[in-house]
Amino acid sequence: MLRDTVRALAEAKIAPYAAAVDEEARFPREAQDALVANDLHAVHVPEEYGGAGADALATVIVIEEVARVCASSSLIPAVNKLGSLPVILSGSEELKKKYMTPLAKGQGGFSYCLSEPEAGSDAAGMKTRAVRDGDFWVLNGVKRWITNAGESEFYTVMAVTDPTKRSKGISAFVVEKSDEGVSFGAPEKKLGIKGSPTREVYFDNVRIPADRMIGEEGTGFATAMKTLDHTRITIAAQALGIAQGALDYAKGYVQERKQFGKPIGDFQGVQFMLADMAMKIEAARQLTYAAAAKSERVAAGGGEGDLTFQGAAAKCFASDVAMEVTTDAVQLLGGYGYTRDYPVERMMRDAKITQIYEGTNQVQRIVMARNLP
Ligand SMILES: Cc1cc2nc3c(=O)[nH]c(=O)nc-3n(C[C@H](O)[C@H](O)[C@H](O)COP(=O)(O)OP(=O)(O)OC[C@H]3O[C@@H](n4cnc5c(N)ncnc54)[C@H](O)[C@@H]3O)c2cc1C
Repeated sequence: MLRDTVRALAEAKIAPYAAAVDEEARFPREAQDALVANDLHAVHVPEEYGGAGADALATVIVIEEVARVCASSSLIPAVNKLGSLPVILSGSEELKKKYMTPLAKGQGGFSYCLSEPEAGSDAAGMKTRAVRDGDFWVLNGVKRWITNAGESEFYTVMAVTDPTKRSKGISAFVVEKSDEGVSFGAPEKKLGIKGSPTREVYFDNVRIPADRMIGEEGTGFATAMKTLDHTRITIAAQALGIAQGALDYAKGYVQERKQFGKPIGDFQGVQFMLADMAMKIEAARQLTYAAAAKSERVAAGGGEGDLTFQGAAAKCFASDVAMEVTTDAVQLLGGYGYTRDYPVERMMRDAKITQIYEGTNQVQRIVMARNLP
């Protein structure tokens, strides 16, 4: 039922703008409004804070269905989870109430600020600094590649509180867009997901109350990594949706396009490509849904189990599948596939990011190797 509901909404209210959002590199306002109106913008927020209380699998299905028509728009529910999960996992009850309630109401999105210009894969090498001053912390530094920066009202920011301790000297904070000293860089000009603004975030003597710290001092990096264990599964869902969208389009196209006097879908060479695409998507889906079920059990207090492996495996596998499937979809449309008159080249450009963010697929393989089941 959830899938049918989201698919119908995505087809009616999000798909019609996907090409324009890409072409004009503009925020998908129509998608944001439709998702908020239908309580689908941050479905993971627990009911006690006024949220929909969707479990990890339901959240994955929402993201998958939105990504099937517009990857940029799928970053709205995905990044709202990424940005707010540190608070849900490690924040005080007061912090959860204060920030989850407006998020659930659609009164402010949540971004996640880990990466920096000089600290990407090696995120623990960050330089952004938080220094204690009485009942306040003062933040200075630059975060880079922050999805939905400028759009979001709230930011989970990882910053160094003790430079002698590397990852154990990093703490997490909630920073608000309106805090004095917060500003944003120009939107990055990207290959894909052009509707999702990616900007630098600058902290210039940003003074925030000490109770904005998420969890204990020195636990920020652990919280950031624990968050990614859960949210890499949402990137897998995004990849899955993009791939499914490309397959669905290609499936229709090969029945219409005629060469040598018959639909190209009658050729076995074309049929085998479609069969491989569908097979890979189904394998990615099973892995992603199993990882989502595991994420839910862990979030509900079950053991960590091998969630770290599963999350990395789902993200890595599904994103590689999305890149292969979208490239094959372009191939199946021939020269037409290579133009912006058809959606598959956008899907191919959008798929590429899923192999890069929330840790590149090389990093996922490092994570998997360290956590072999
Ligand atoms: C559109 C977009 C949105 C993003 N959104 C966010 C966000 O909202 N919040 C956030 O915090 N970050 C975000 N990121 C940042 C993203 O997570 C980083 O770009 C990513 O982790 C890689 O870091 P890097 O770009 O510095 O690449 P680098 O770390 O410099 O990597 C360059 C290459 O070296 C490889 N490499 C590095 N180390 C190793 C190793 N040990 N072994 C093998 N290969 C290695 C990488 O796999 C990659 O191929 C976003 C990035 C983009 C492009």
